[in-house]
Amino acid sequence: MTIAENVFQNYIGGKWQPAASGQTFPNYNPATGELLGHFPLSDQADVDAAVAAARKAFEKWRLVPAPKRGEILFRVGELLVRHKEELAQIMTQEMGKVLKETRGDVQEGIDMAYYMGGEGRRLFGYSVPVELPNKSGVAMRDPVGVVGCITPWNFPIAIPTWKMFPALVAGNTIVLKPAEDTPRSALRLVELLYEAGLPEGVVNIVFGPGNPTGEALIHHPDIAIISFTGSTETGRHVAVEAAKSLKRVSLEMGGKNAVIVMDDADLDLAVEGILWSAYGTTGQRCTACSRVIVHRAVQDQLLEKLVPRIEQLRLGDGLDEQVDVGPVINKKQLDKIHSYTEIGKSEGATLVTGGAIASQGGLARGHFYQPTLFKDVRADMRIAQEEIFGPTLSVIAVDSLEEAIEVNNNTKYGLSSAIYSQNINRVQQAMRDLTTGIIYVNSGTTGAEIQLPFGGVRGTGNGHREAGLAGLDVFTEWKVVYTDYSGK
Ligand code: ADP
Repeated sequence: MTIAENVFQNYIGGKWQPAASGQTFPNYNPATGELLGHFPLSDQADVDAAVAAARKAFEKWRLVPAPKRGEILFRVGELLVRHKEELAQIMTQEMGKVLKETRGDVQEGIDMAYYMGGEGRRLFGYSVPVELPNKSGVAMRDPVGVVGCITPWNFPIAIPTWKMFPALVAGNTIVLKPAEDTPRSALRLVELLYEAGLPEGVVNIVFGPGNPTGEALIHHPDIAIISFTGSTETGRHVAVEAAKSLKRVSLEMGGKNAVIVMDDADLDLAVEGILWSAYGTTGQRCTACSRVIVHRAVQDQLLEKLVPRIEQLRLGDGLDEQVDVGPVINKKQLDKIHSYTEIGKSEGATLVTGGAIASQGGLARGHFYQPTLFKDVRADMRIAQEEIFGPTLSVIAVDSLEEAIEVNNNTKYGLSSAIYSQNINRVQQAMRDLTTGIIYVNSGTTGAEIQLPFGGVRGTGNGHREAGLAGLDVFTEWKVVYTDYSGK
């Protein structure tokens, strides 16, 4: 279904179509600068067509029994297994993270397909005893309508599946707008959905940037829900604009996640967790660890173990299995990351390692940044407060668990936190007092089981969760039915 010469099209109502305006935008490999393809620059006219197709398909899809909708997701799961390597390669070329991670990205989609496929046979509602004789009361889940999915580039397969699969099993139809940096991954996913037997029009995909494509979605009167993952700044704008037409909005946004290392911690274990959660995906995960809050008594010991490990990380093209850290997504992000190095220095933090754009040898062609670590960071510095979304870690020394918890909680974000301690009392206290959506005990700040709710508080979310049973809530409307059976 791919179009000649790597010029790709929207998929609307079961048909490949160029943008109504005829315009396209290019997509490049961030590791090599290679041109990967051209995608339609969709505007209001394309979004109108996609929403109309989804609206039409909704009237039939909502009547397909949920177990049958689930069976299609099982077939999607099988196809994702079969195409795992292909999808991983596409993702690594589009956004740079190493193959081990892009394979994991597909695996999250596979897990979600099977998990939500099974929900087709559950989609639990409940019945309760009612006060009057010969009456029953039942609460059941209805689909809501057309869902606009707006997704980022850092998990190009996993995030669209976390939104689309619960929405689909619940009987909704979809218009997907993937990030402009990772269009091909999303397009391939949509192709596989149709190969699995999805009826035409149930999922439609349009390509383009936030403006005009995303804007057309968030303002469209026939879209019932916007499910968004991206930056807090954009998420706030999406929420404000979508509220004007009373759309339901689910937001997954930024993080400033911390690993707390207490003086009784297993430091070798902590080093492994910090390394992976700070520099995996080149720090471009909403759950990435960007602060280490360490007890002053073990700070030097921890850094003695951690810094050489950071300096051994191999930078390069993620397609090379020997590489640990790939490029960052684009030039704009590279410059932003470097500007935070300058900010950190000017704020008085000590640069321990990294801190420069990497341009040796083959790296010169791509967007690479050295894995970076600052120490002597104060909790109120910008590098300790703002989301950098890159391989930059700030080390903050504290004198007690109470201080560590206060530092952890005192940012505008609240996604994930980790605590390394072998003292059960301290761990329990941290579980109680850390105000983040996800807490890890003796492991880093990343990694999620799809059968548990995922999301955060404050500037990270707006009260909704993805994945787990909670992940169905945003895509369903409760309908209550009272029946009086006292008649003869
Ligand atoms: P990032 O900075 O990580 O690219 P963004 O929040 O800008 O994150 O982007 C996340 C998703 O939101 C992308 O698909 C992007 O195109 C989309 N987006 C950006 N701006 C808007 C907007 N004004 N309206 C709707 N969607 C938008």
